[in-house]
Amino acid sequence: MKPPSEKRLIIVSNRLPVSLAREGKRWSVTSSSGGLVAAMGPVLQNRGGLWIGWPGVSQLKDARNILNRATQGIGYTLVPVTLSQEEMKQYYYGFSNEIIWPLFHGLHSLCNYDPAYWKAYRRVSQKFARVIIEETGPEDYLWVHDYQIMNVGEDLRAIGMTTPIGFFLHIPFPGLDLFQKLPWRREILKGLLAYDLVGFQTVRHKRNFIQCLRGMLPEIKIFGKGNIQVARFEDREVRIGHFPIGIDYNAYASGGQSQEVEAEANSLSFALRNRTLILGVDRLDYTKGIPYKLNAMRIALRRFPDLLHKVTMVQVVVPSRQEIPQYELLKNEIEQLVGEINGQFAQPGWVPIQYIYRSLTRIELLAFYRTADIALVTPLDDGMNLVAKEYCAVNGDGKGVLVLSEFAGAARQLHRGALLVNPYDLEGVADAIHQAYKMAPQERTERMARLRRNVQQQDVFRWVSSFLQAGIEQNLADFPQQALDSDAFDETFWAEID
Ligand code: UDP
Repeated sequence: MKPPSEKRLIIVSNRLPVSLAREGKRWSVTSSSGGLVAAMGPVLQNRGGLWIGWPGVSQLKDARNILNRATQGIGYTLVPVTLSQEEMKQYYYGFSNEIIWPLFHGLHSLCNYDPAYWKAYRRVSQKFARVIIEETGPEDYLWVHDYQIMNVGEDLRAIGMTTPIGFFLHIPFPGLDLFQKLPWRREILKGLLAYDLVGFQTVRHKRNFIQCLRGMLPEIKIFGKGNIQVARFEDREVRIGHFPIGIDYNAYASGGQSQEVEAEANSLSFALRNRTLILGVDRLDYTKGIPYKLNAMRIALRRFPDLLHKVTMVQVVVPSRQEIPQYELLKNEIEQLVGEINGQFAQPGWVPIQYIYRSLTRIELLAFYRTADIALVTPLDDGMNLVAKEYCAVNGDGKGVLVLSEFAGAARQLHRGALLVNPYDLEGVADAIHQAYKMAPQERTERMARLRRNVQQQDVFRWVSSFLQAGIEQNLADFPQQALDSDAFDETFWAEID
């Protein structure tokens, strides 16, 4: 272990916040998308530290050097964990995304319980642990993120790490009925008990975890009530809490007011001929409930003729996990539904659903948030859902309406301003779309003001501070702040291959 000169925050996640890719004779280094990156990027930029994770390519000797050159000035250091293609296939696409992801989102029937996946998951976890122990020292606070590396804490303990380690699960944690179907249920629970603090997005996920501990490990003792509870198991005490993740509110709010976003928003309104814009922005994923949402829209168009010609739904689908067959099937299903609904309702000069299948630039995304009169965020289950919060932060004129699934973690905080729906209740969602469309300006502004206050108060910096406070009784302010050029790394950097 290296003795660091000062206290550092060390983030460990499956992926680094950037991806490397080979393009001809050059390497490109691109900012990754996704909730964790959006949340942690600004925090590390502010405070410095290390981020350890997979760089997006398998077996690259010079990864560290290329990353260092590409990210000079971002304010923190990236440390790659290199993985082979086979490891990625079995540990990431296999165990993480064909078992844990569907199971933890309540979709057991989609799980592929291949025993080889579990073995790969454990091997990769040990690989992460070896890199971490090389890079960190006794002063550092280690914070491990998410379902792909739940057992890293246990592997670090096995090779001698004794300092506090925190773990945060970004996705839901299921109840006992579902969790006990997992063949490696005890191994996962015991792995999580190697941390000093285990954090969940909502009180519901925390309760599910405690229910699983009680059900699967009868010798465990749970103490306390309130935000933080304590589990005593064998010779360890583990704190368990809930910490709803936020966004960098100020960055979104001011970004939404920038000139570039304003110009993009104006051309968007012009292209939509000032029709009411209903927006969906989702990663291609069956948990996001996109086909349900489209069917609800179909019902709304059928039941409420006042919507015809007056609304345009833009559904952005961001490509994701294309290597997994279910995702390809989902894409086909969405495209077929969009075609059917447009075929059924379109008239000359008006198409009800516009479908975009690609990643948006930040300016495009903010312009959509700014312009949208209604955001339809209807996942079947979701740890938090940052899109819902980003929409509120950017909606500066305060006239947007958020229609939000009650199964998104964000519903716990946003229920007083949003129109909450059960995404499986297609008629209920159709009614909510119509209610949002008809909502009086005063009610819109009151609801949106409430939403924005909430998102602003519970931002990402508060999330980090509350986790660190629970983990090591320290605030974000206890980590050294640094001056840096926040635009030092933007979108894509190119490095020549030697
Ligand atoms: N996002 C993105 N590119 C896009 C559209 C969205 O990076 O083209 C971001 C969006 O701003 C948000 C994240 O992807 O921060 C999605 O997070 P969310 O919690 O809603 O869902 P996840 O994809 O993490 O399940």
